[in-house]
Amino acid sequence: MKQSVKMIVGNWKMHGLGGALDQARAIDEAAKALNGACRVALCPPSTLIDRMATVLRDGEAAVGGQDCHAKPSGAFTGSVSAEMLADAGATLVILGHSERRSAFGETDAEVAAKVEAAIAAGLEPIVCVGETLAQREAGEAIAVVSAQVEGSLPDSLSERPFAVAYEPVWAIGTGLTPTLEQIAEVHAAVRAAIVKRLGQGARTAPILYGGSVKPDNARDILATPEVGGALVGGASLKAADFIPIMKAAV
Ligand code: PEP
Repeated sequence: MKQSVKMIVGNWKMHGLGGALDQARAIDEAAKALNGACRVALCPPSTLIDRMATVLRDGEAAVGGQDCHAKPSGAFTGSVSAEMLADAGATLVILGHSERRSAFGETDAEVAAKVEAAIAAGLEPIVCVGETLAQREAGEAIAVVSAQVEGSLPDSLSERPFAVAYEPVWAIGTGLTPTLEQIAEVHAAVRAAIVKRLGQGARTAPILYGGSVKPDNARDILATPEVGGALVGGASLKAADFIPIMKAAV
């Protein structure tokens, strides 16, 4: 895979029944037509991972989870382990999404433990960081995301494939996006924090942007320095919205 190939990841959140696999099929057909010029992954709810992985078995799009437990198994009612995601056909997992950090109180240390579990299960983690609106308005965005990178990436990530997603909390699901200058500024800071944390070997780990990426803003965002792809929520649910974003990455 060329270094410059962008990674476009769909986060379906708690959306999607069996019928939604038609959207995944259409997205995969479009991904095939791009001939490896863009790397595509879909992260459906856990209940769809196995079926989606089966449907896309000979396809181009990868399948990922949206979270995992830090332990491989145990008395944790309702939780899913990294090993279980991998067993169901996932090859990636989103970790530390702001909805989990805010709604479930996940700390950087807990995210780091989940990243360790993902690596142990052979999954590629996508670690999310991002500031709230109050933090941005207080001029703390760079400090907040740098600290999240520092605390959420364990040593064992060195030499392993992983991505970081910069997702300003105030841009997720709101239709608001930072300016391209703000995105470039934070991505440069995230890169510096990754390299400080894991060394020069991590210089090529993709840094995705996430937060209200749509067909009409994707091309500009993806052309911004240090933007290695996009993590897409709402616009990943329909192939008609997601495919133009994939094409904007090429
Ligand atoms: C997300 O859930 O990670 C996300 C970026 O959502 P949206 O694209 O809907 O803002």
